[in-house]
Amino acid sequence: MTSQELFNESKKYISGGVNSPVRAFGNVGGTPFFTSSVDGARINTCDGRSLVDFVCTWGPALFGHNNPVIRSAVENAIKNGTSFGTPSPSELEMAKMINKLIPCAELVRMTNSGTEATMSCVRLARGWTKRDIIVKFSGCYHGHSDSLLVKAGSGALTFGNPDSAGIPNAIANLTIVLPFNDFNALNECFAKYGEQIAGVIVEPYPANVGLIVPREGFLQHLRNLCTLHGALLIFDEVITGFRVASGGAQARENVLPDLCALGKIIGGGLPVGAFCGKREIMEYLAPLGPVYQAGTLSGNPLAMAAGVAALKLIETTMPYNELERKSKFISNAVVEASKEKGIALQAPMVASLMSFFFNEERVDNLEIAMKSSKELYKKFFFGCLERGVYIAPSPFEILFMSSAHTQDDLDFSADAMCKAIKSL
Ligand SMILES: *Cc1c(COP(=O)(O)O)cnc(C)c1O
Repeated sequence: MTSQELFNESKKYISGGVNSPVRAFGNVGGTPFFTSSVDGARINTCDGRSLVDFVCTWGPALFGHNNPVIRSAVENAIKNGTSFGTPSPSELEMAKMINKLIPCAELVRMTNSGTEATMSCVRLARGWTKRDIIVKFSGCYHGHSDSLLVKAGSGALTFGNPDSAGIPNAIANLTIVLPFNDFNALNECFAKYGEQIAGVIVEPYPANVGLIVPREGFLQHLRNLCTLHGALLIFDEVITGFRVASGGAQARENVLPDLCALGKIIGGGLPVGAFCGKREIMEYLAPLGPVYQAGTLSGNPLAMAAGVAALKLIETTMPYNELERKSKFISNAVVEASKEKGIALQAPMVASLMSFFFNEERVDNLEIAMKSSKELYKKFFFGCLERGVYIAPSPFEILFMSSAHTQDDLDFSADAMCKAIKSL
């Protein structure tokens, strides 16, 4: 069956034909392609095309798709069974790796998704501080739990309903949303609600609205305010963790959160999340403490095998300089092409994270991001796709580089992307 046939058929059996909204291509239009297999930097479609992939399964594929080391770790683990429901050695190995790599991680708890990780951080912050208010930033996406799906980025933005239906006002009202990079808004919020704020959750480098780069000192200021007012600082490093540095954004920025949510790369392509933080706070979780959190499949042995293999690859290969060099190569090429074409383009970068906004202004927050031309992005997206390069089907997502992208892949992609810009 072709992608078109598969999509038509899927819509009869799966709500919207997809299991996660952004996959439906709603923001660029058209029919999503279906994938038959992936390998290295390539995604192979059911229509027989091979594309260079800069979505990388939305971040997890740091070492490219179907990495042989990760695959064989899963193959070895599966011989012992798929799920135990008891503690197992691979969970200990994973926790030790996280403890070693992530600066704030004194204790760890595994989950099955990033959503569960951030949701658990929020509950823990509320339980620990005995306060109710959570502060987040508009455009930051923290998964789809009720408290956090307020002015969120990513798929929620793409579909134009940043505040989802089905979230009671009573819950949404406990979440204060501030503009990112706005020191004054932050100061005013703490002056007014400081003693009621359980925690502030932030993507240290917001990457679900395209990429927003924090202003100098913004994250440190946030740290200081939280400390001063007894609120917990929660870093959502589901994207940045193990991607911008082996210790995540907290290592790169030298700002230590109280709690941190992880996901994506930590599963090596299997469904995994984790949260971690200060010992005394993490010990407030059941079974030691009163904050309940659990998971039938949490710490699943296949997922741990894949994740541990990915983290070991990080330790042995330290791919970050190379990833950054490769992202710069692509970013510079697209920036040059847009200059020649005379199109206003913002191309923010932090480490290997990058995105493209068709915008005159530096993108400092969600409001400015939303002024970017969706029409141009849509044309750019299809211009790339028809030339064999797959970037995110939404102007509010970033590009993901992997260590499997070869110089040939990059030359091919830069050429395709520049031609796509020139044909706008
Ligand atoms: C993807 C993402 C999540 C949610 O993770 P899921 O595994 O999709 O539940 C949370 N926070 C950030 C920053 C993300 O990018």
